[in-house]
Amino acid sequence: MLTNAPKGTKDVLPKEAYKWHYVENAFARLCERYGFEEIRTPVFEHTELFQRGVGDTTDIVQKEMYTWEQAKRSLTLRPEGTSPVVRAFVEHKLYAGVQPSKYYYNIPCFRYEKPQSGRLRAFHQFGVEIFGTNDMMADAEVIAIGHDFIKEMGIDDVELNINSIGCPDCRDKYRDALREFLKPKYDLLCDTCKDRYERNPMRILDCKSPEDQELVKGAPHMLDYLCDECRDAFEDLKENLTAMGIEYVVDPGIVRGLDYYTKTAFEFVSKKIGAQGTVCGGGRYDHLSEELGGPPIPGVGFGLGIERLLLTMEAGGVEIPAPEGADAFIAFVGDRAKLAGLKLCRELRLKGLKVEMDDMARNIKGQFKYADRLSVRNTIIIGEDELAEGKVSIKDMESGQQTQVDMDKVFDRLKGDR
Ligand code: ATP
Ligand code: MG
Repeated sequence: MLTNAPKGTKDVLPKEAYKWHYVENAFARLCERYGFEEIRTPVFEHTELFQRGVGDTTDIVQKEMYTWEQAKRSLTLRPEGTSPVVRAFVEHKLYAGVQPSKYYYNIPCFRYEKPQSGRLRAFHQFGVEIFGTNDMMADAEVIAIGHDFIKEMGIDDVELNINSIGCPDCRDKYRDALREFLKPKYDLLCDTCKDRYERNPMRILDCKSPEDQELVKGAPHMLDYLCDECRDAFEDLKENLTAMGIEYVVDPGIVRGLDYYTKTAFEFVSKKIGAQGTVCGGGRYDHLSEELGGPPIPGVGFGLGIERLLLTMEAGGVEIPAPEGADAFIAFVGDRAKLAGLKLCRELRLKGLKVEMDDMARNIKGQFKYADRLSVRNTIIIGEDELAEGKVSIKDMESGQQTQVDMDKVFDRLKGDR
């Protein structure tokens, strides 16, 4: 019996791959314009990195990690990008260089979730991080990249929602208020959230269970509990966004699914792709480095789901330019012509042209039919008679015009055609 791909994974077939290239290139180029450099980290890390970074009361750590033991060490497939990048930054002492540091990445992530449209177990994220500054200019810059990228991809229905989730100082007071609010409903909470009630009640706001979602309606908002510093920072952020002409909506309900966030939290949400509408989510994490045993290094960044991005583009009717057809197809009649064709084909490819040839021993009629399916610009025909004179015929597939050209002039002729 054929073994299928595991549930929650998706193959990117060649007819889709060009779309991935398109968004991947656009994202890299945009980040470079903003002065970000690419960073790559391994697909798996020591499990404790995520337990400490993402937080051991989060859904990700409690339910969704792919974890195994190898040689007595517990390893985990990366469920998100930020903790590994912070780990690498600290491990390689990159903080010793000129700050801030600005990184971008394009990574596969793995979470054992319930697969749905826009929710996979193996998915992909673009991400950016700025380390080393707690100025809200950095938060605004990160948000601007997300905003500009989404716009550049032709998506126009996405809304930017922002919130502040405070710092450890103001959060303590807020947690007390939240416990007070949830106390009479405690018995109705799911078991995971009962445990979170004492340890980390803010996580209950992010619980996926519909019953718990109902119970937290009307809960107090972190925004009403911010300390002076956090409130000023939030005002600062809004001012920066306005100065850049970036529209936003304050959504006091955003908590984010990872424990490391402080102050700024934001999401870009599409209304067109249903329940899994958050295309991009991020925020500030001023204590993550210390949490991981590093020096104090403030940071801010986002993760942007590539599958969700493509779904949103599709839902919005965005046309991604398909790759161009080949410059030429080389058809041949007879064995000597075949060898001459092989030689010509390789020479043209080495010079940078996209050239196709039949590998299936089709007869000449079959080769022409095949060339039609490939939608090539020209068909080069090599016959025994022409070959003796060092010539080939070139047929322009659009006009149907056929001309004879010297073998050593084929490149110039095709290049002029581009
Ligand atoms: P959600 O609320 O949708 O579960 P999240 O809060 O878990 O999102 P992050 O951990 O911040 O999301 O990840 C950043 C982005 O990665 C999301 O906004 C989304 O676009 C994408 N993403 C997250 N989980 C998945 C998944 N299981 N499948 C596909 N994309 C995902
Ligand atoms: Mg999630």
